[in-house]
Amino acid sequence: MEFEVLVVGGGPAGSYSAARSSALGLRTALIEEHTEAGRPQQCAGLVNPDIFHFEMMDRLSNHVILKEIFGADIFSPSGLILPLKGSGVKALTIDRAEFDKELLRLAARCGTKVFTGQRVTSVRKRPGRGWEVSSKGREGGIHLECDLLLGCDGPASLVRRCAGMEPPKETITGISVETEVVDGAVPHDKVGVYTGKETARGFFAWAIPSFGRSCIRIGASSIDPRGLVKGFTNLLKDRRLARFLSLPDGQDIKYGETSVTLGPIPMGSPANIVGKDVVILGDSAGMAKPTSGGGIYPLLRAVDLFISTLGASAGLSQTSLDKFEKDWRKGYGRELERAFIARKILSDITDDETDMMLERLSRKGTLEMINDEGDIDHPMTLAVSLIRTDPGLFMLLPRFIPHLKKVL
Ligand SMILES: Cc1cc2nc3c(=O)[nH]c(=O)nc-3n(C[C@H](O)[C@H](O)[C@H](O)COP(=O)(O)OP(=O)(O)OC[C@H]3O[C@@H](n4cnc5c(N)ncnc54)[C@H](O)[C@@H]3O)c2cc1C
Repeated sequence: MEFEVLVVGGGPAGSYSAARSSALGLRTALIEEHTEAGRPQQCAGLVNPDIFHFEMMDRLSNHVILKEIFGADIFSPSGLILPLKGSGVKALTIDRAEFDKELLRLAARCGTKVFTGQRVTSVRKRPGRGWEVSSKGREGGIHLECDLLLGCDGPASLVRRCAGMEPPKETITGISVETEVVDGAVPHDKVGVYTGKETARGFFAWAIPSFGRSCIRIGASSIDPRGLVKGFTNLLKDRRLARFLSLPDGQDIKYGETSVTLGPIPMGSPANIVGKDVVILGDSAGMAKPTSGGGIYPLLRAVDLFISTLGASAGLSQTSLDKFEKDWRKGYGRELERAFIARKILSDITDDETDMMLERLSRKGTLEMINDEGDIDHPMTLAVSLIRTDPGLFMLLPRFIPHLKKVL
């Protein structure tokens, strides 16, 4: 079978690329190893409301949205709280499995030929133009050929390897549980964020309201994979989490049925995301935000730019693929690069320094600025405004001053 565009992977990057490519009139196929999209779920499901403003994303039904989030309580290691609250909706909690399913349905409705339950096992360059791809499934294998190959096959991308591209710069591990809390009240409009090396060294842990009135997603990510499970276990008993759930002092948190997932979060774009007749997108290209691990907004933004570039040019020429890569790196890709550097710099911040920093950020004028300008997908824009308004923030941690130029 011969297609103009072949997408490997039916996660959000793959399904959205396939939907947009089909809508552009390109003969498109998508191949996914699982029989069902969205499983296993490896996500805390917190997204920027703007994701529904990308072209065609308003066609997803409202029931994928679980909660509207207006703010966050950021807990310092010693228990200080930076209470963030904007006037509008700052984020949404989504049913991630349903989100993935809806996106794959959207691709099929737009005309994509979808093959599920087929694991791609071989990816070879054709002499001259295009690629050939073979897969295996329970009912037997298939063989597909295409002019353009899109590697949307996640962190361990086979397409990336076969195209000779480098992996993302860094992969950290995240652990997340979906659970019901027996006592206490799950805030329905804010999330909890927990810092500290005993919980999530170099990154953070979270509590995010999900289904109904008592379900919550609790998770953590850390640059120290060996300490992650211990940190996460500490979090489940943490007084700061009990406070977030309004439990009285001394009362332990009791959990109902719990499902656990563990997954990699690749970040830091490799040197190339475009090769000869091939493009990698989403986790395969390390597009998650280095400051939060959120991958969905950046990948939708990348796909949107990619398809707009194809639509505006002469179609599938190598020139338009190269133009996409150039424009990505000059635009949002640059925000991700700066965030990557910033996170590297901040990853060895001590617990005392985090306490000091959060105390400083909770001062009136600064807090107002964060509440007005804060956007989970543009952290560097806010960070730069904060440092410009209050350079003393950086002076708090003088050893970081030499790095200031790289971030700004
Ligand atoms: C613990 C955790 C929490 C997270 N929380 C958030 C969050 O709150 N918000 C957010 O925005 N992001 C979050 N992320 C990141 C987000 O989940 C990813 O960035 C996103 O899933 C990337 O989408 P993708 O389509 O690139 O890859 P994936 O979702 O990994 O999809 C890749 C697809 O390719 C398929 N595939 C792989 N290999 C093959 C093959 N050989 N043949 C056929 N199919 C194949 C896979 O089955 C899969 O369906 C989190 C990640 C983790 C681990």
